[in-house]
Amino acid sequence: LQKEMYRLDRLNLIGEMAAGIAHEIRNPMTTVHGFLQLSRHNSDNLSEEIIDLMLEELNRANSIITEFLNLAKNKVSVKVKQNLNTVIEALSPLIQAEALRSSKHIILDLGNCPDLFIDQKEIRQLILNIVLNGLDAMSSGGKLMIKTYQNGQTVVLEIKDQGRGMGPEVLEKLGTPFFTTKEKGTGLGLAICYSIAERHHAEIDIATGNEGTTFSIQFKQDQR
Ligand code: ADP
Repeated sequence: LQKEMYRLDRLNLIGEMAAGIAHEIRNPMTTVHGFLQLSRHNSDNLSEEIIDLMLEELNRANSIITEFLNLAKNKVSVKVKQNLNTVIEALSPLIQAEALRSSKHIILDLGNCPDLFIDQKEIRQLILNIVLNGLDAMSSGGKLMIKTYQNGQTVVLEIKDQGRGMGPEVLEKLGTPFFTTKEKGTGLGLAICYSIAERHHAEIDIATGNEGTTFSIQFKQDQR
């Protein structure tokens, strides 16, 4: 029975994801289709502005497909022994600039950590997704803290925002592909984080309430 339920669960999930993709790809296609049809007899309609809009829509559809492929189960990480702090420091200018654009601040508190076997590109993506969500959640400004430390055999990466936090109705759907509360969200960010964490045998814990959210990602030392 349990096996059967598992299979149904997966079928449901595949169905939901297919519906999500169809929706996300069909929207931009409908827009571009509409513009092209309007311009069929009168290409004066194709102003630079409209062409830019169409390009933007096509780029969006393309990036949804790329993000979705990142979720593929059989994706293989390319792990190299390196320090988590180095990945964070390399990403720092980008996220600092992003935070400053909306008058928010990012504070790094990087402790002494042993090297880990990690895929730099994937971990960069994981941090970026969580940090950007944190910044999004802080609509009235504030600080976002990125902290690393060693705890026994575990290296912990903490990303703590001062945003609006999440209620149980959001929390329980977190990581489900295409679940989003944002008008322009894809709902793929955290699903990708979970799949990256899984490939790194890392665990993600979330603490959230009225005073913000803390994502805590635990990497086991020596884990390949
Ligand atoms: P997206 O950012 O495209 O919506 P995600 O999978 O990254 O997709 O996030 C899903 C949803 O989880 C978001 O729409 C938001 O409602 C919620 N969420 C994620 N991170 C946070 C956070 N730090 N604070 C509050 N809500 C969050």
